[in-house]
Amino acid sequence: MVKRLAWTWTLIACLAVALASCSRGSATDILTTTTILADIARNVAGDRLTVGSLLPAGADPHSYQPVPQDAARIKQSQVLIIHSGGYEEFLDGLLENTEGQNMLIEASTGVRFRSGTQGEDATDPHVWLDPNNVIVYVDNIREGLAKFDPNGAEIYEANASAYAHQLAELDAWINAQVAQIEPQRRVLVTNHEALGYFAERYGFTVVGAVMPGFSSASSPSARQMADLIEQIQLHEVPAIFLDASDNPELAQQIAAETGVKIVSDLHLESLTEGAPALTYIDMMRDTVTKIVQALQ
Ligand SMILES: [Zn+2]
Repeated sequence: MVKRLAWTWTLIACLAVALASCSRGSATDILTTTTILADIARNVAGDRLTVGSLLPAGADPHSYQPVPQDAARIKQSQVLIIHSGGYEEFLDGLLENTEGQNMLIEASTGVRFRSGTQGEDATDPHVWLDPNNVIVYVDNIREGLAKFDPNGAEIYEANASAYAHQLAELDAWINAQVAQIEPQRRVLVTNHEALGYFAERYGFTVVGAVMPGFSSASSPSARQMADLIEQIQLHEVPAIFLDASDNPELAQQIAAETGVKIVSDLHLESLTEGAPALTYIDMMRDTVTKIVQALQ
């Protein structure tokens, strides 16, 4: 009799778990555009709210093409968190149908954006690659979640402050790592200009990018390629850094002409499902370790 009762309870418990995970699978309280934002938001929300990312791990946000479920996922969520700064071009069509239904949090509000080196009025959206800007993200997310769920305000406050402390430690760790690179070797060439904020914070010079501009969705002219090769030789650049999602073809052409080495496994725009970039802090530690190794 006792055994049968235990069985029944186990069954009920399993059903409850299945129902809970089912509802979590179809809708989340908070939806973020990218996996990086989802990790940051989870650190503020803790266990109180569920968080999901619209883009899967490994997707390039610059070239992302929305799928039909994306509009439904935005509609089903209650809070949408975006980087903003022109980064999420894929949202343009998606938000038309869902406007006004969700609370929208623009994580980068208050961050000082860099503008283009190309002369046009382009904005560099890659602000999260300086952890100090992520501390601003955390504050905006904390404020937004406290408005959405005032009863959780104290929890969000405590979570945000603990995570901001970890981000400040990350910043100090990066400074110590970068100190191992001789100042004249602190030069960066990337596939597109993604490391501008990182360079500004940690004393690197961005010599150039294979794709001119702030997006992976551009291509260089023959003239721009020749100029970059000249700059790489002039500054004795040791390495070109590519995101794991980048096509390495043009960088390989440059390497063939200059002998520069290619580091092709950085994660700058998306987390990974396991190591090395399971969290934002893991991603930054991995990035910095690979940059220091290549430039030392
Ligand atoms: Zn980018």
